[in-house]
Amino acid sequence: MADELLTVEGLESGYGQLQVLWGVELHVREGETIVLLGSNGAGKTTLLKTLLGLIRTRHGSIRFRNEEITHLPTDARVRRGIVYMSELGVFADLSIEDNLEISAQFLPRSEAKERIAGLYELFPDLGRRRREAAGSLSGGQRKILGVAKALAAKPHLLVMDEPSAGLSPRFVNEVVRVLAGFHRAPGLSLLIAEQNVKFLEIADRVYTLDGGRTGFNGSVAEARENDAIRRAYFGLK
Ligand code: ATP
Repeated sequence: MADELLTVEGLESGYGQLQVLWGVELHVREGETIVLLGSNGAGKTTLLKTLLGLIRTRHGSIRFRNEEITHLPTDARVRRGIVYMSELGVFADLSIEDNLEISAQFLPRSEAKERIAGLYELFPDLGRRRREAAGSLSGGQRKILGVAKALAAKPHLLVMDEPSAGLSPRFVNEVVRVLAGFHRAPGLSLLIAEQNVKFLEIADRVYTLDGGRTGFNGSVAEARENDAIRRAYFGLK
C-alpha cells in the first residue's frame, strides 16, 4: 500500500462559540485523489482551512508525511507542500503571470521560472495572455488559472475547495479534464471538496462530511452504490 501523506484524527475546530468540525478522520495516501462530498454548510471549507492552519485546531491532530503539523503556521504548511485553492482562486486585478509568480514565491528563483514555463506549455492560452489581468478571463478560464496557480507552488497535496463553484457544466467538464491529467501524477495527491459527483470520475476514494462529521469512506464504486450518497448527491431515490 502507498505511504500515507496526510493523517487527520479527531479534528475539531470552528468559529468563536460555534464548533463546526466534530472528530473528523481523514487519510490521504501518496498519489491519491480524494473527493470529499458535503452539502452546503457541512463544514468542507472549515475543514480545508483547518488543514492549512487558516483556522486553529481545537482538538485532534494533523500529520503530514509523518510530521505533526497541527499547530504550524500556514506558510510553514505551504512550504511543506500543502497548497490551498479556494473557491475564488485567483487575484483578479493582477496579471496571469503575477498570479503564478505569487504562488511560486517559496521556490528557488530558477525552479519557479521553470515551473511557470512548464505551466504555460500545459495551458497555452494562459501563456499567450500572461500579461493580461486575471479578471479579463472568463469564469471557466479563471478556474483553470486557479488550478495552474496552485500547481505553480509545487504541491504534494493540492487541496481544492469546490472547483466547480460558479461554473457551467461545460467548464466543469473542462476542469475535470485538466485535473484528470494530474491523477496519479508522481508526488501529487489531490483533496477535492465538492458537491458535484462529476469529480468522482477522477477520484480513488470518497469521504462524506455531514454536520461537521466524517461519515462514509470508501472506494468510488462503493460510493456509487451507497443509498445515502445516491439520494443526497445523485438525486436518486
Ligand atoms: P459551502 O459549500 O456552503 O461553503 P461548507 O461545507 O464549505 O459549505 P462551511 O463554509 O465550512 O461549510 O461552513 C460550516 C458552518 O460554519 C456553517 O454553519 C457556516 O455558517 C459556519 N461558518 C462558516 N464560516 C464562518 C465564519 N467565518 N464565521 C462564523 N461561522 C462560519
